[in-house]
Amino acid sequence: MFILAEDTQRTQGKDAQSSNIQAGKAVSEAVRTTLGPRGMDKMLVSDSGDVVITNDGATILEEMDIESPAAQMIVEVAQSQEEEVGDGTTTASVLAGELLAEAESLLEDDVHPTTIVEGYHEARALSQEAIDQMVMDAELTTDRLESVAESSMTGKGTGDIEADDLAETVVASVEQVTGDDGVDRDAITVRTQTGASSSATELIQGTVLEEEPAHDAMPRDLSDASIAVLDLDLEVREANIDAEYDITSVDQLEAAVEAEEGELRGYADSLHEAGVDVAFVTGDIEDRVASYLAKHDILAYESVGDSDAGALASATGARTVGSLTDLEAADFGAADRVRVEKFGEDELTFTEGGAASEAVTVFARGGTEHVADELERALNDALDVVTAALDAGGVVPGAGATEIAIADHIRGSSAAIGGRKQLAVEAYADALDVIPRTLAGNTGMDPIDALVDLRSRHDSEGVAGIVAHGQTGEIADPHEEGVLDPAAVKREAVESATEAATMIVRIDDVIASD
Ligand code: ADP
Ligand code: MG
Repeated sequence: MFILAEDTQRTQGKDAQSSNIQAGKAVSEAVRTTLGPRGMDKMLVSDSGDVVITNDGATILEEMDIESPAAQMIVEVAQSQEEEVGDGTTTASVLAGELLAEAESLLEDDVHPTTIVEGYHEARALSQEAIDQMVMDAELTTDRLESVAESSMTGKGTGDIEADDLAETVVASVEQVTGDDGVDRDAITVRTQTGASSSATELIQGTVLEEEPAHDAMPRDLSDASIAVLDLDLEVREANIDAEYDITSVDQLEAAVEAEEGELRGYADSLHEAGVDVAFVTGDIEDRVASYLAKHDILAYESVGDSDAGALASATGARTVGSLTDLEAADFGAADRVRVEKFGEDELTFTEGGAASEAVTVFARGGTEHVADELERALNDALDVVTAALDAGGVVPGAGATEIAIADHIRGSSAAIGGRKQLAVEAYADALDVIPRTLAGNTGMDPIDALVDLRSRHDSEGVAGIVAHGQTGEIADPHEEGVLDPAAVKREAVESATEAATMIVRIDDVIASD
């Protein structure tokens, strides 16, 4: 009896498992060479010819046009990793692929999928225990946080700026928005602008607006500015325009024009009388109003986006007002300085030293669009990891040291498990070796020798990783070398990789309708 439509494709049992596993492995294989400081970049070209050059796992997988549903699950691993902690996307996908490869051999040895899933879940719990033990006791000083930022950025195409300079900017910005309630990550914005090399990247104490003044004759640099954020249009009201139709004589026309002019001048006058120096307006500003404002030496912007207007209001302490009639001094914000600067074709407005919030902007520069974009991704990752280190449970040694320690902990506990499940638990430990092995390979070391050396150094010293140094790597203590990752990144990588791998292993029937 046929219960499915004729064009339905169905794969069952071992075939289904095997093709899903292959697809998942292939995806993780694709990002493997980008792992770590000596990882390579990928160039992704879309149908329309757009090019993205990146080292970022989540970006690569997002740009790749992946169709297989099992492969799509690995893409989701990277996405959830990116959403939860902002870094570790390559680690999580590579780990998921290796868990699938290990599962494949277990299936060949007739270990039941359910047993694999149970074993993997047990190993995942052991992994979290091991991560807890690896969390560094020492205080998270500025220096250590800079190490965390740096270890997330090395290997990214950040142009001519060194990761340690960027790390300083990243940590300085996070420290500025850290209060009793932790890090206010949303108060940090990354803005990119081409036209200068990335070493010109700087931290702005305030916001950067991508808008030009409404009139050329407006001032371009103001100190101790009083700021209004206006949610309205500064133009002739509709009613007056309709009135024009009733005009029958020249006198009436002149009177109407006069009235209109008066209304427009009135807008500028009332802002001037209220003491406004800078007005950010979400609606339109009619040219004549702009010119009256310029005569009053008021700097004004039109069509300011809602999110920019919101950020400016919260940074300067201004209250957004919807009408000029109820304008009061209490509605105004303040900033130490508002200045307009020209960057090639673009004009940007810097509002610095706002009275209310600690909002900061990392103003990232790049020689080309590609460099600026990759720098922006690297900066956002670094901001996320520093935030995760401060807000979500400290740091662990990087460079594969934590993965080796987790594997060691799992192997040490697996003897007590027994039965076939023990095989799955041990396979999980073997899968974790993929991280140091891949780091070693990408660093130009022999992956097998490096892993053997790493294990023995781990046994004798407790903490050891594959630390990249210039063109090569060496086995060393990542604490001493300043290679630190947030514990939250490792925790999430273990969770999301296990989740995806076990989900794929459990499937034994793929029913696809066309
Ligand atoms: P992910 O997308 O997983 O963050 P990355 O390419 O950023 O991938 O690589 C992260 C890995 O590189 C982490 O395991 C981190 O500890 C390691 N790493 C960072 N800096 C160094 C270094 N100097 N030497 C060795 N490993 C490093
Ligand atoms: Mg990273």
